[in-house]
Amino acid sequence: MSGGIEGNIGAVLGRIERAALKSGRKAGDIMLLAVSKTASPQLVREAFRAGQRHFAESRVQEARAKMKELEDLEIDWQFIGHLQINKARAAVGCGFSLIHSVDSKKLLLELEREAARAGRVQRALLEVKLSPEETKHGVEEEGLMELLIGSGKTKHMKIEGLMTIPPYSDRPEDSRPYFRRLRELRDRAEGEGFRLPELSMGMSNDFEIAIEEGSTIVRVGTAIFGERGQA
Ligand SMILES: *Cc1c(COP(=O)(O)O)cnc(C)c1O
Repeated sequence: MSGGIEGNIGAVLGRIERAALKSGRKAGDIMLLAVSKTASPQLVREAFRAGQRHFAESRVQEARAKMKELEDLEIDWQFIGHLQINKARAAVGCGFSLIHSVDSKKLLLELEREAARAGRVQRALLEVKLSPEETKHGVEEEGLMELLIGSGKTKHMKIEGLMTIPPYSDRPEDSRPYFRRLRELRDRAEGEGFRLPELSMGMSNDFEIAIEEGSTIVRVGTAIFGERGQA
């Protein structure tokens, strides 16, 4: 289906535009992050040709292979998956511009060590777990402030905001309380002197709601690449 990806990206950008308008925001203040975890390199290339520049992967190994295969393109690669401590070195080595999923002090300190070794500053977000599901990762609300304080002491980790994944639901409105809560936590932390401009929230089925609640990065996979990302 040629033109499929380009059409999908156009449709998503249109939805972003309308959601921004509706909430009195500028569409340009919201980054569309194309989640390519199920997409072949060929489809990523197609999305790039359609003008998309920001892509995200959720597994370090797969990301590394895809990045290598697409190294001729100037892609901004980000990481959104759960990161195991023993993958910190590989993740920093990949050169992601932003890691969305720092969820523990241990991971933060390991990334700090690896970023220091690599002689670079690693930008990241803290993933916050706002629902009790066992399967979810993320720091709980109660532990967020402590993690933020810890991040204030790292020299090579730059924490720029918060990320969350609400429980799955077919009804986008169900996500709103989670998005709102993340923004409240951010506002409260900013009141304590932290600078956290980025809110990574909203996926294919609920990103309009996320934008209404202040999202600055929407992570969209299926709406761009389809269910399994086949060509
Ligand atoms: C897969 C994934 C997405 C994209 O989800 P879609 O529903 O396909 O848009 C967003 N964020 C994270 C963390 C993901 O793992």
